[in-house]
Amino acid sequence: MQNAECRSRVNQGGGRRAEGGDQPGAENGGQRPENGGRAADFRPPGCGLRPPAWAHLADELADRLSRESVIRRNEPLAKHTTLRVGGPAEVYVEPAGERDLALVLRFCRQHELPFLVIGRGSNLLVKDGGFPGVVISLAQPQFTRIEIAGQRLHCGAGARLKRVAVEARRHGLAGLEFLEGIPGSVGGALRMNAGAMGGATFDVVESVRLMDYSGAVRECKVGELAVEYRSCPMLKTHIALSAVWVGWADLPEGIGQRMNQFSRKRWNSQPAARSAGCIFKNPDSIPAGRLIDELGLKGTRVGGALVSAEHGNFIVTDDAASARDVLDLIDLVRGRVRAERGIELKIEVEIVGQ
Ligand SMILES: Cc1cc2nc3c(=O)[nH]c(=O)nc-3n(C[C@H](O)[C@H](O)[C@H](O)COP(=O)(O)OP(=O)(O)OC[C@H]3O[C@@H](n4cnc5c(N)ncnc54)[C@H](O)[C@@H]3O)c2cc1C
Repeated sequence: MQNAECRSRVNQGGGRRAEGGDQPGAENGGQRPENGGRAADFRPPGCGLRPPAWAHLADELADRLSRESVIRRNEPLAKHTTLRVGGPAEVYVEPAGERDLALVLRFCRQHELPFLVIGRGSNLLVKDGGFPGVVISLAQPQFTRIEIAGQRLHCGAGARLKRVAVEARRHGLAGLEFLEGIPGSVGGALRMNAGAMGGATFDVVESVRLMDYSGAVRECKVGELAVEYRSCPMLKTHIALSAVWVGWADLPEGIGQRMNQFSRKRWNSQPAARSAGCIFKNPDSIPAGRLIDELGLKGTRVGGALVSAEHGNFIVTDDAASARDVLDLIDLVRGRVRAERGIELKIEVEIVGQ
């Protein structure tokens, strides 16, 4: 009875029906052809669970969570990333709140399941085999709220950065204009210490609410967190739940003008096509984009992946692209840069999955 009830929740998600689901023939999503189509043979590397085991686990997890949480099987991750490539997640969960998030984490620990927290997927490259575990997205309203108190913005980790910038402008709070064109979430910006136009996330964040992987929650003042260029290492082992950002009073018109100026600058130098932003970290000696341009690599294509003609450090994708195309193009560029300039380009986007 318990399983029957759960099964209907995972498949139909309380009215939010899963794509693929657990129906016969839908097991494994895009991975199935590679193992001859026999579901029982499929064993994701890293956790060794067969599809029926995943189905039971998803049912069991659904049974523990509140009805407001969303849980799906074989969720295509391409639709959760800005590159729009990559395979499915075995289990995809949007916890309704902190209690359910803690339950998901404890469940993963109990069953030794790999898990991954995603924001808006704007710094992620998911491989074509998908993610062999539980993908957690803080997309439910409990995690996307933005509340203003004086000069402070209390923002859930799932809130979009663009919304944070717009709310700050609306309330006459300056200093957050640089967030305007970064297509991520608050959680992703904290993890990456995202920045642009001379501003960076931790310049304007005062405190962060965190959950560790056992489900314990605490507030951290920024001074307690080590912060690096494009990284907050603490968030490799904790989940950001929310953050307090501090602005300073200014006229909304002036803030709006700066946002427009930043936007124009961005769109004059970056492609509008789908991408994951800068693919490579800038070497000390030269910006990666200029290096790639100097080697004549702009416009180089592998399948549906292309080095952008507008910005050498962007790889853009079309409808035919696979994650393999993007990875092969990355290898091609790195190989040419190594051979011709002796520079080892480091990858900025996070590559996940199998
Ligand atoms: C067109 C374009 C332009 C961009 N421009 C910029 C730019 O100007 N400056 C810049 O810094 N970046 C830029 N980026 C990259 C990207 O937008 C940022 O890195 C952004 O902060 C990622 O946020 P996200 O929500 O998409 O995170 P995701 O890509 O979903 O995840 C990135 C990392 O954050 C982790 N994560 C996500 N949420 C949480 C959470 N709640 N707790 C803990 N960890 C979490 C994930 O596990 C992953 O490790 C750009 C990307 C694109 C596509």
